[in-house]
Amino acid sequence: MSEKIPYKIYLSENELPTSWYNVRADMKNKPAPLLNPATHKPCTAEELGHVFCNELVKQELNETDAFISIPDEIREFYKMYRPAPLVRAYCLEKKLGTPAKIYYKFEGNNTSGSHKLNSAIAQAYYAKKQGLRGVTTETGAGQWGTALSMACSYFDLDCQVYMVKVSYEQKPFRREVMRTYGAKVTPSPSETTEVGRKILAEFPGTGGSLGCAISEAVEAATKQDGYRYVLGSVLNQVLLHQTVIGLETMTAMDKYGIKPDVIIGCAGGGSNLGGLISPFMGRKLRGEADYQFIAVEPASCPSLTRGKYVYDFCDTGHVCPLSKMYTLGSEFMPSPNHAGGLRYHGMSSILSQLYDDKLMEARSVEQTSVFAAAQQFARVEGILPAPESSHAIKVAIDEALKAKETGEEKTILFGLTGTGYFDMYAYQAFNDGRMSDYIPTDDEIAKSLAKTPSLS
Ligand SMILES: *Cc1c(COP(=O)(O)O)cnc(C)c1O
Repeated sequence: MSEKIPYKIYLSENELPTSWYNVRADMKNKPAPLLNPATHKPCTAEELGHVFCNELVKQELNETDAFISIPDEIREFYKMYRPAPLVRAYCLEKKLGTPAKIYYKFEGNNTSGSHKLNSAIAQAYYAKKQGLRGVTTETGAGQWGTALSMACSYFDLDCQVYMVKVSYEQKPFRREVMRTYGAKVTPSPSETTEVGRKILAEFPGTGGSLGCAISEAVEAATKQDGYRYVLGSVLNQVLLHQTVIGLETMTAMDKYGIKPDVIIGCAGGGSNLGGLISPFMGRKLRGEADYQFIAVEPASCPSLTRGKYVYDFCDTGHVCPLSKMYTLGSEFMPSPNHAGGLRYHGMSSILSQLYDDKLMEARSVEQTSVFAAAQQFARVEGILPAPESSHAIKVAIDEALKAKETGEEKTILFGLTGTGYFDMYAYQAFNDGRMSDYIPTDDEIAKSLAKTPSLS
């Protein structure tokens, strides 16, 4: 194609995907099933149905259908903020002086400031269709809680969010956005649940954690009639919904005859990365094309690069099913000076399996280098990136500089998952030169890993 690639490739509304792509259908080694924590047997649909919406349970367990159609009501909502632009980072390329071509898929064009709305709207839709009154969830940095409150207000569902206490206190504006959309926000751990009271008794004054907020949200869902629990990452269903990111990207790239050599994404629980790479991974798995995939995680919470691939608890209170995943242990706590999100102790079981099969690589990066990359990016590309997204930027820049040395004209694609307007305390620490890096010791990791359940 001789035509110059535009700065932004926009698809039209009718190019929005009509189905999500389920990469498990093409995986030879399927991800391990969720296990009942009491019996250590695979969870049945009926068991999962006590916690999750029925249609979402079906998606969670479906490893045979490659395509699952997106209901019209969800596509209508998607049209408010999708298709998302695929941007050619001409200005960044020029600044770096690299022969590499850099593209990013920008998911920050909605009020949640992240890709999370793609799954929130799907989960709220299925809850409404099942005739539920409401849903409960946890949120850490706040993007997921915001996305879910937006989705729930759209479908007129009650939304109860357990927000990790330190975030609740540090990010009052996130909280207010959620309340504006009608959500009830409770700092976690709280006195409103049994598990919250137990954790508070054991660790008075704790700032909370994602694993703890999950336990509270699950308890709240199972104790109220007409409520179910929803999760914003990690689960197969969430990766599935996020494949709109990769499918749109693939359509846009195919249209201009662009083939990415390396595809990079940040990895917290794995949903944006899984969503971006799934359709490309499908081609790789079917032997149609080859790509290099890189998951980027914080050096302070390195589940893929330093964790173990074992069954583990998904939450602190051990109320959730066991999942086989790369994990640092459910009691692992990233150091409080870690600012950049991506602080979950485990990883999506789909991505864990792909990584274990060496179909995907992983790198860990330190937060000061992440913020330096964020600043560099913001100054030439205009977008103020979320700290989470900036992990992917950091490795994309590293790859572009490597290409500069070798003179290789390779094509780099990365996921820019969101904007960082609510992360200004972290940017302030970086700008003031007060940000430091904390890398957990082998001992610390071994200690929390020792508490993973032993299965016979
Ligand atoms: C939640 C979030 C992430 C990490 O979650 P994944 O499930 O790993 O995608 C990354 N970027 C942003 C902006 C987020 O809000």
